[in-house]
Amino acid sequence: MNRKPSLDTQCVQAGYTPGNGQPRQMPIIQSTTFKYDTLESMGRLFDLKESGYLYSRLQNPTCDQVAAKICALEGGSAAMLTGSGQAAIFYAVFNIAGCGDHIISSASIYGGTYNLFAITMKRMGVEVTFVDPECTPEELKQAIRPNTKLIYGETIANPALVVLDLEKFATVAHENGLPFVVDNTFATPVNCQPIQWGADIVVHSTTKYMDGHAAGLGGCIVDAGRFDWTGYPERFPGLCTPDESYHGVVYTQQFGLGGAYITKATTQLMRDLGSVQSPHTAFLLNLGLESLHLRMKRHGENAKAVAEFLKNHPKISWVRCCALPEDDYYQRAQTYLGGNCCGVVSFGVKDGREAAIQMMQYLKVCVIETHVADARTCILHPASTTHRQMNDEQLKEVGIGPELVRISCGIEDAQDLIADLEQALAQI
Ligand SMILES: *Cc1c(COP(=O)(O)O)cnc(C)c1O
Repeated sequence: MNRKPSLDTQCVQAGYTPGNGQPRQMPIIQSTTFKYDTLESMGRLFDLKESGYLYSRLQNPTCDQVAAKICALEGGSAAMLTGSGQAAIFYAVFNIAGCGDHIISSASIYGGTYNLFAITMKRMGVEVTFVDPECTPEELKQAIRPNTKLIYGETIANPALVVLDLEKFATVAHENGLPFVVDNTFATPVNCQPIQWGADIVVHSTTKYMDGHAAGLGGCIVDAGRFDWTGYPERFPGLCTPDESYHGVVYTQQFGLGGAYITKATTQLMRDLGSVQSPHTAFLLNLGLESLHLRMKRHGENAKAVAEFLKNHPKISWVRCCALPEDDYYQRAQTYLGGNCCGVVSFGVKDGREAAIQMMQYLKVCVIETHVADARTCILHPASTTHRQMNDEQLKEVGIGPELVRISCGIEDAQDLIADLEQALAQI
């Protein structure tokens, strides 16, 4: 059979293929270390002359099989799991940008990533320029410096729900010899495969939709295997010149464009920094991935139904959901997301802060949490939680007004979510 399995089938089956008489379900290899018959055969692994397992800080079979599934879903050449989304983003950037370097990022990104770039990586000597995601190609190009190493953005930004113009960012990056790194956490490969639109590296917080059940923190990095590091050896010396910590291996020579980036991130960064995902968590992540295609469909349908209800409600001033035809990002969602959306919707309560807080206290099905992308619907008022240190002026500046409520629609029956919101709004 020559047919390439569809994404749905890959969600269920990619990554782990049992041999004759082997377990149908992916085994959890809960072992830190691996046994060898001779020092010589182990030595070949240390020299990276052969692939195999030495120690689970470097690689683990269960984690590798789950990474292989995500790699297949994103259409990449190689992938690795990390202990969290934050670790994945840090490794993805630090793998090619160090002290004295510069990166460019869309300003509309996850708050944790913003802090990582603006505060922590700055302390490590990596400068960041944040650009308006709606900037022109010329403005984006003007942000590039001689020491710029990459351009970064999110497919659907958390929490602003901006759908990024992936092609614009990819084109400017490639015209200037830079890789384009995309956080695809909110879209997931079910709704968008950024590699098809020019992304070179894709990162995920698997904590969100991929796990989908709020069971395990995790991250993943996928390399498209297309960016030609060897065309810019002075810009990317870590990939194109000998690594002293591995007997002078040159990653691009030994592992090719398809393997160099992930091998370096594994053998250097994971070896030295060690933010691994545990095999047990990887197993739970794989259970989540097996239903990702079904869940994303339902998350999107529920978000759209809830957004349509809120849009027509007299106590609601505005609604953001890219599946609504009047949304600013509707057209872009048609292009990049197949017209779909994720489960997250934000909206404004007309009477402002106090009314928003009051409404949330009456909810029964939608639960107050700082989380998104769970099978269970959760809801948050950023002004009194994640952004509570800001005053109303500052909140307006970052686009998160005091009236804003963010709901992450789960996979329950949409009518139950709507009825819950309806009764809560009736009481304010
Ligand atoms: C949650 C999130 C992260 C951080 O991931 P953790 O798994 O919490 O470390 C990064 N990017 C996006 C878009 C997120 O939603």
